[in-house]
Amino acid sequence: MPLVIPIFIPHEGCSHRCLFCNQHTISGRSGPPVSGADVAATIRRWLEHTRPEKRIGAEVAFFGGSFTGLSADRQAELLAAVHPYRFRGTVRSVRLSTRPDLVDRGRIDWLVERGVTTIELGVQSCDDEVLGRSNRGHTAADAIRASRLVGERGLRLGIQLMPGLPGETFRSLRHTAAEVIGLHPDFVRLYPSLVLRGSGLERLYHQGGYRPLSLGRAVAWTAYLKKRFDDRGIGVVRMGLHPSGDLEQALVAGPYHPAFGELVQARLMLHRTRRLLAGLPDGPPVTLVINPRDQSVFRGSRSHNLARLRQLRLLDRFTLRTDPHQPRWTVGIGG
Ligand code: SF4
Repeated sequence: MPLVIPIFIPHEGCSHRCLFCNQHTISGRSGPPVSGADVAATIRRWLEHTRPEKRIGAEVAFFGGSFTGLSADRQAELLAAVHPYRFRGTVRSVRLSTRPDLVDRGRIDWLVERGVTTIELGVQSCDDEVLGRSNRGHTAADAIRASRLVGERGLRLGIQLMPGLPGETFRSLRHTAAEVIGLHPDFVRLYPSLVLRGSGLERLYHQGGYRPLSLGRAVAWTAYLKKRFDDRGIGVVRMGLHPSGDLEQALVAGPYHPAFGELVQARLMLHRTRRLLAGLPDGPPVTLVINPRDQSVFRGSRSHNLARLRQLRLLDRFTLRTDPHQPRWTVGIGG
């Protein structure tokens, strides 16, 4: 993984205040907007404090707002601060996040000329009902159009989705997965919807107008998405918000877990193991092989997976062996 140098621009450029959003909480950043000098200082600090071999291929990432909604001067100021590092080759790429309705061909061309290589779009859902109830201010068609423009221009495309927003059902989640697969993103991030203090969703929640997903359902829905994307070779680079003290303090309700991604991996490991064992003829126990780093994922949180396999009378059908050559997150049959 190349070094990622994050620059937070909370809510800057946002044309709408989305119902669920409180970037100050997520980023832990408040105060005046970052200046070009701040950007340069942040890059310098990260490079200085990172071992040389880890600095290779460093990427600067602007998060937390709608970069393309900033004035041209402001965008130019922030990108110009990265330029000397790109010129010297100490920063290889620049990534930014934005809203689909703030992307057009002219803006993308302008960004490409200034070294931007990846655009991440906050798509959240491809169900217009869900987008409307979340006060996104754009439609699924906007997201599809913007994604195609990013891909056609040869930039890397990232898509963020938020399972569990108001009005979402499993059916609309499946529809979203199919739409996103059709856009061929280079990667996706999956952030199950949380109720954060200071957000519109908090008000709705207290009025009884919103019920967040339970942790179990959020894990199941995210596992479904992850499997769909994995099957199509689309990388899932993050599941669940990055845990932090600020986030935990601002959490009102919802499926938060500091190791959410691991819960999803454990769920998928259980599915794989069940499928593998179910396909075997009756006979003596087989040897299942996992990567040594996956032992806790195989057991599941509080040994949930082992308990489930016992319930299904599958626990005595195998012995487990670890092998560092077994790819991560997979289970195979040993000789
Ligand atoms: S979700 Fe994105 S567009 Fe909406 S308020 Fe938050 S940062 Fe702005």
